[in-house]
Amino acid sequence: MTLKVELVIIGDELLEGRIRDLNGPYLARVAHREGAKLARMTILSDNIDELVQGLKEAQERSDLVITSGGLGPTSDDRAKEALSLLTGQAPIVNQDALRIVKQHYARIHREWSPGLNNYHLIPSGAIPLENAQGLAPGFLLRGHHKSLMMLPGVPREFKAMIDQHFLLELTRLDPLISKQNSLTIRTFGMPEEKIFNELMPGLWTKLEQFGKLSSLPQVMGVDLVLTPWTKVDYLDWVENVRNFVLSTPLNKLIWQWGEQELAQFIVELLSARGANVSFAESCTGGLVSSMITDIPGSSRVFPGSLICYDNKVKEQDLLVPQEILDLHGAVSLECAEAMAIGAKNHFQTDFVLALSGIAGPGGGSDKKPVGTLALAWISPKGSGSEMFKFHGNRLDLKQRFATRALFKLLEQLL
Ligand code: ATP
Ligand code: MG
Repeated sequence: MTLKVELVIIGDELLEGRIRDLNGPYLARVAHREGAKLARMTILSDNIDELVQGLKEAQERSDLVITSGGLGPTSDDRAKEALSLLTGQAPIVNQDALRIVKQHYARIHREWSPGLNNYHLIPSGAIPLENAQGLAPGFLLRGHHKSLMMLPGVPREFKAMIDQHFLLELTRLDPLISKQNSLTIRTFGMPEEKIFNELMPGLWTKLEQFGKLSSLPQVMGVDLVLTPWTKVDYLDWVENVRNFVLSTPLNKLIWQWGEQELAQFIVELLSARGANVSFAESCTGGLVSSMITDIPGSSRVFPGSLICYDNKVKEQDLLVPQEILDLHGAVSLECAEAMAIGAKNHFQTDFVLALSGIAGPGGGSDKKPVGTLALAWISPKGSGSEMFKFHGNRLDLKQRFATRALFKLLEQLL
């Protein structure tokens, strides 16, 4: 029997579209990895009656119910109240909760007092849970082969508490649960329908002989995730999958066997080579640099970039000749190449990429429609430039331009 896990996300702000849920995807990933089944995610409002009803139904359906949100000090935080109504147990002072809350406040050099909030009160029978990233404790209610774990909504806190408490409860409920190791094959350069219908019809069936297959399109490229059907020796299994895949035409599309983000992968490759990169960014407004600097340790491989949105900046800071701009326009191979040379002279990095494109919605023409990107690069392998055309709205296009540039960098690194 697979243990059923269910997530109840609480908050009017989610139902009103003011924030986007980040906790569901995190729990889903962790649960899947640990071999449990996340059977359902529900979003409930802060309304107390709906909350009580929703929790009751979730508990009836599932073995482990996790809730997210509504644990804070304000009057819209009703999770604890809902639990009290559900169990018929009023919140009472809990000595463990008291100790945990005092510790949480001590961590930020403040002293907790009962006037601040009711974090020390929990429904009798519940167990308080430490919150390594916040102030409000979570709590756990254990029933016969069932548990309810109430966690804060702030994603940083929710994540830390899942990491600390979820697996323990999972293995308590099902001591035989075992990790579900998947293999992610990250590909680039071909949409999924082409991979499975043209490149190699029959690939899907062949891969499914090794395990359950999911095909996940990314901003650019497709991730193929394979999970063994049954318990296997993982390393042997990976070896078999690899041997098969390497003998197929899919081989030439693979850029990574694993789950690292592209920017992370690139930063590690650069780091390992002791090399660095800089960018001259026009249409992406710094997005490529932002993706790189999202990665801890990127300072070892990234001294900086020039954002040259206006043509004057291209001329003044990157020394793009005015004739190029007049003759070819900013979105041209000539301009991108000149921008790359300007950035190379400025930063003296091993790799340089320059991007100039039209993110729209205005500014396109028949010859250079919205979605056109001029990309130029200089690397130890040589220099080059290429025009690309993409579709999408302004923000999609910025993402695609930036991702395309990073894939070009990856190609130069491999
Ligand atoms: P707090 O002590 O901050 O009140 P809480 O546990 O009561 O924490 P909420 O009040 O539900 O949690 O949410 C606090 C903030 O956390 C929200 O304003 C929102 O910014 C963020 N947040 C809550 N739930 C989610 C979620 N599911 N996904 C993303 N962000 C969330
Ligand atoms: Mg709150």
